[in-house]
Amino acid sequence: MAQLAPQLKQATPVQAARGEGVYLYDTDGRRYLDFTAGIGVTSTGHCHPKVVAAAQEQVATLIHGQYTTVMHQPLLTLVEKMGEVLPDGIDSVFFVNSGSEAVEASVRLARQATGRSTIIAFDGGFHGRTMGAAALTTSGAKIRAGIGPMMGGVAFAPFPYAYRYGWTEDQAVDFALRELDRVLASTAPASDVAAFIVEPVLGEGGYVPTPARFLQGLRERADRHGILFIADEVQTGYGRTGRFWGHQHVDGLTPDIIVTAKGLASGFPLSAIAAPKALMEKAWPGSQGGTYGGNAVACAAAIAVLEVVQEEGLVENARVQGEKLVAGVREAAEGIGAIGDIRGRGLMVGIEFVDANGNPDGATAAKVHAAAAAQGLLLLTCGVQGNVVRMIPPLVVTSEQVDEGLALWTKAL
Ligand code: PLP
Repeated sequence: MAQLAPQLKQATPVQAARGEGVYLYDTDGRRYLDFTAGIGVTSTGHCHPKVVAAAQEQVATLIHGQYTTVMHQPLLTLVEKMGEVLPDGIDSVFFVNSGSEAVEASVRLARQATGRSTIIAFDGGFHGRTMGAAALTTSGAKIRAGIGPMMGGVAFAPFPYAYRYGWTEDQAVDFALRELDRVLASTAPASDVAAFIVEPVLGEGGYVPTPARFLQGLRERADRHGILFIADEVQTGYGRTGRFWGHQHVDGLTPDIIVTAKGLASGFPLSAIAAPKALMEKAWPGSQGGTYGGNAVACAAAIAVLEVVQEEGLVENARVQGEKLVAGVREAAEGIGAIGDIRGRGLMVGIEFVDANGNPDGATAAKVHAAAAAQGLLLLTCGVQGNVVRMIPPLVVTSEQVDEGLALWTKAL
């Protein structure tokens, strides 16, 4: 008899039987408020009728039409539709299946386009678990331990995590940019660097919004040294942060390559990189992609997802409900010393647990996470030490459901 592989460690005991909107139901019919959204994926909620209908229709029409052999309409329509939400000048899109694959596609493109090999990533960043993406990832030792040697040509620089350093944001940014300049002048000479890869909100590393001045500093250095700027928007894209793209919290900032996945198809495996055509042309045919990339059903679902995001005003909803959620979490934390910091950008809300000395306290975060699940509220943890509880509800969450989540959270606390 086959068994589940032991490396599959479930964070909650829940066996999901079905999902509807922001709720999951287990095999006994118990209802859970799902503030995990499948790790920030099901942005239009579970089984949104419009997404279900689009996928059902496509399943009965054409399931798979591999894009290097035959082109299909769902992919072409999706590209056209994404033109409505991509920043000006970012007009070329290429599809694969997962966030990690898209990250690797962006690295491949950056190396192809610049003829340089080094990629600079930032401490605490998460870019995936495939070998290339893991080589860029430092948000948890378990991701890299024992699987080396890692892909070469990767250098790291500090991320301006002000709270953890005990600094103001300005101090953290000054430090991180100074260190980056040191790296560019020594261990990773600027003339060898193909790209910076950065998350607009540090995700798995602790839900830390990346300061605007740091992103501007990266852009300025990228322009100065001919380095490409990759925005890993796998978690922050598609409205999650209250703007369509996470980098749009910084006025006038445009990355060279955007990596997107998760909310792109709200549960169907689909990811993409987007870049200006002149840059994308540097990737030669056959050097990117995979058998399932741009699957017809996933593309059809993604078209419906984008329509729902636009028609139902989900980007604005993420902003409004996110503000409400953070305010409620702040109120619930009053007088609770174990909570050191609360951060939010749209519907990415992080609650950092610390011990009496201000050090990361993963054990307490794990207890509160389990208590919330027992109350019927599904949450996740993140942070290098697992000490940040995070809330990522579907973008369709209503004000009443935020209240419901806050009531369950308060009981769990
Ligand atoms: N990049 C970021 C910012 C992510 O948050 C993730 C996943 O959480 C990935 C990349 C990897 O995506 P996937 O798990 O789909 O490979």
